[in-house]
Amino acid sequence: MTFQPVLERIAEDIGRMPDRGRPAGYIPALAACDPARFGMAVAEPDGTVYGVGEWRTPFSAQSVTKVFTLALDLAREGDALWEHVGREPSGNPFNSLVQLEYEGGIPRNPFINAGALVVTDRLHTRTGDAAAELLTFLRTESGNPGLAFDLDVAASEDAHGDRNAALAHFMASYGNIASPVPVLLDQYFRQCSVAASCADLALATGFLARHGVRADGSRLLSRSQAKQVNAVMLTCGTYDAAGDFAYRVGLPGKSGVGGGIIAVVPGRCTLCVWGPGLDERGNSVSGVAALDRFTTLTGLSVF
Ligand code: GLU
Repeated sequence: MTFQPVLERIAEDIGRMPDRGRPAGYIPALAACDPARFGMAVAEPDGTVYGVGEWRTPFSAQSVTKVFTLALDLAREGDALWEHVGREPSGNPFNSLVQLEYEGGIPRNPFINAGALVVTDRLHTRTGDAAAELLTFLRTESGNPGLAFDLDVAASEDAHGDRNAALAHFMASYGNIASPVPVLLDQYFRQCSVAASCADLALATGFLARHGVRADGSRLLSRSQAKQVNAVMLTCGTYDAAGDFAYRVGLPGKSGVGGGIIAVVPGRCTLCVWGPGLDERGNSVSGVAALDRFTTLTGLSVF
C-alpha cells in the first residue's frame, strides 16, 4: 500500500485548519516557530518512507527523544529500570513536582520530565555518555549521519532550566539520581535539543513497528519489551492528554514541545508529524489532527 495519497489528503485538510495553536514559549528558539508549518512522514518496516509538506525539515525533537533513551536503557538493564521509574499516567503536567514527594522520589513514568531525567541518568551511568548514545542510535536508524544537537537550543534550555534542575536535585535527595546534577542536566538538554526531520524520526522509530528489531535486522528490544514501550507511549506519551490522544488517534504516540509527534502502528508503519503550534496541554494541534485523520482514513489503529 502506498501512503502517499492519504498523506496528500491530510495535508490539504490541515491547510484548511483555521487555528493551529501557539508555539512553545518557554525558550526563544521555539517561540519563534510559525504554527502554520507542517510536515508528515510515514515509514514502512522495510525503510520505505512517504512524506508531505516539510517532512525533510529538521525541527527540535525535544521530548520525542524520551522514547529512544527509554528503549536504549531498557535494552541494557531490563526490568530493573522499573524499580526507579513507574509506568502509570501522571495526569499532571510534564514538568510537575507534586507527585514526587509522596512517591518517594520515583517518577510516575519515563515520559514526564522527572522520569526522563531518571532514564537519561541510568543510560548515562551505563554508557558514559547518554546523549552520544542517543545521537548514534538516531543517526544509524534514520540513515542520516548529519543528525546533530542544536547547541543554541540546549543552551537556551539550560538558561531556563530551573524546573528541571529542581526535579533532578529533588530525586537525587531520594538517591534516585546517580550522576552529579549539572552533568545530568547537560546530558538531558542536549538530548532534547536534537534537530531531526519527520523522515528521520519516523525511520528511527521503526524498531517499535518491527517488534524490537533495528533497521539492520539486529534486535534492540525483546518482542515483549517493544510491546511495553508502545504501551507506555499509549498511556503516557502525550502529556496529560494521553486519554484524549488514545481516543482520537488510537496509536502509541510521543509528543514534544517542538511540535513533533511520533506514532506507531505495530507491524505496519511508524509516523512522525510536525506542526509547531501547541494546544494548552503541549501537543501539536495540527499534529494530533493529522494523526486523527490518518487513522480515520486508513483504519490503521491498535483498536
Ligand atoms: N526540554 C524540554 C523540557 O525539559 C522538553 C519538554 C518537552 O518536549 O516536553 O522542558
